[in-house]
Amino acid sequence: MSTPEYASSVATTEIEFRKALDAVYENIAVAAERVGRDPREIRLLPVSKTVSEERMRAAHAAGMAAFGENKVQEAEGKAEAMSDLGAHWAVIGPLQSNKTRNVAEFAHEFQALDRIRIARRLDGQLKEFDRTLEVFVQVNASGEETKSGLEPRQVEDFLEQLQEFENLQVKGLMTMAFHSDDETVIRESFIMLRDIRDDIRERRPELIGDGELSMGMSNDYMIAIEEGSTVVRVGSAIFGERDYSN
Ligand SMILES: *Cc1c(COP(=O)(O)O)cnc(C)c1O
Repeated sequence: MSTPEYASSVATTEIEFRKALDAVYENIAVAAERVGRDPREIRLLPVSKTVSEERMRAAHAAGMAAFGENKVQEAEGKAEAMSDLGAHWAVIGPLQSNKTRNVAEFAHEFQALDRIRIARRLDGQLKEFDRTLEVFVQVNASGEETKSGLEPRQVEDFLEQLQEFENLQVKGLMTMAFHSDDETVIRESFIMLRDIRDDIRERRPELIGDGELSMGMSNDYMIAIEEGSTVVRVGSAIFGERDYSN
């Protein structure tokens, strides 16, 4: 079974975060080596939603230079409060059109792009701010109705439409695996995303940037790496179980 263990205790200090990070990097290396990949091809994006500024500062001191957040308001507030860190801010959750301006203003990366209307607004607003934004196109590779993202058959056409937006830098595709305890089922979502990427990269390489694959979270990132992930979005395995009570 390739499911990693959760962080056994909740890290708060720089030293504890170093340990938590080391454990995740070790798992990344183990998974990569299992399939003959170079672990350096894989970027760890720590997901800090619900985590306090104090703990994030300790995590940054321990070497985390990027943070993923799924809510724009929370992300923006943290980016402002911690602007002195010079961190890389990634918005990884769905975006309402009335929040695109905020993202255009502060974020470096947006991983849940699945609507042209949002892309067009972002591009126009980025031009106003003279900024660019790295984007991942979200694909619903699991077929679950509750998941956002494009249907696999819509991806190529969507990427083609994105070409006109000069301030969006297409990096690749993102997905969330089928919600399941069955490793085979989870793996199928990742294989599907990789197949879509491989197919487009072969026929239309100009559409898909670096052809990155953002897939894998705390409970499935080792499986995702075995199937070709280049970005893993890991929250609770680093920061502990989330506390939504605040
Ligand atoms: C919260 C979140 C993650 C991280 O989840 P964990 O299970 O805590 O690792 C990854 N991706 C997205 C889109 C998320 O919202």
